[in-house]
Amino acid sequence: MAERNTWQRERVREALGDARGFVSAQTLHATLREENTGIGLATVYRALAGFAAKGQADSLQSPEGENLYRACESPGHHHHLICRSCGLTVEIAASDVEQWAHSTASEHGFTAAEHVVDIFGLCPACTAAQANERADD
Ligand SMILES: [Zn+2]
Ligand SMILES: [Zn+2]
Ligand SMILES: [Zn+2]
Repeated sequence: MAERNTWQRERVREALGDARGFVSAQTLHATLREENTGIGLATVYRALAGFAAKGQADSLQSPEGENLYRACESPGHHHHLICRSCGLTVEIAASDVEQWAHSTASEHGFTAAEHVVDIFGLCPACTAAQANERADD
C-alpha cells in the first residue's frame, strides 16, 4: 500500500515538473488521466498538498480562489508573475515588497510576519495575441 502511494506521488511530482506554470489539481489529474496512469483526483490533491507542506512545491490561490501548485526553481522566498491566459510563470525577487512588508508589520507591532504577493496578468505573447484578435475584428 505504501509502495503504491509512493509511485503515484512520484508520478504527480513528475507531471507537476512538466507543467509550464501553476496548475490546479484538476488540470494535473486530467493530464495524468490522458496518460492512463489510473491515479485518482483525491491522490493528486493529497500529493500536491503534501509537496506544498514540505516546501517541495509553491502553492497559491488564483483570483478565482482555486488552489494552484508549481514546482519552483527557487527554494527560498520569492514572488510570481503569472499569465492568467497561458499560465506562464516567472519567479521574481521583490526587495521593495520585503522592505515594505517588514516595516508595515513592525509599525503595527507584528512579529514573525509572512506575506504572499503574486501578480496575475497577461504575458507579452498573450498581450500580442489579444491585440491581433482585436485588429482582426
Ligand atoms: Zn515559486
Ligand atoms: Zn500568456
Ligand atoms: Zn516577499
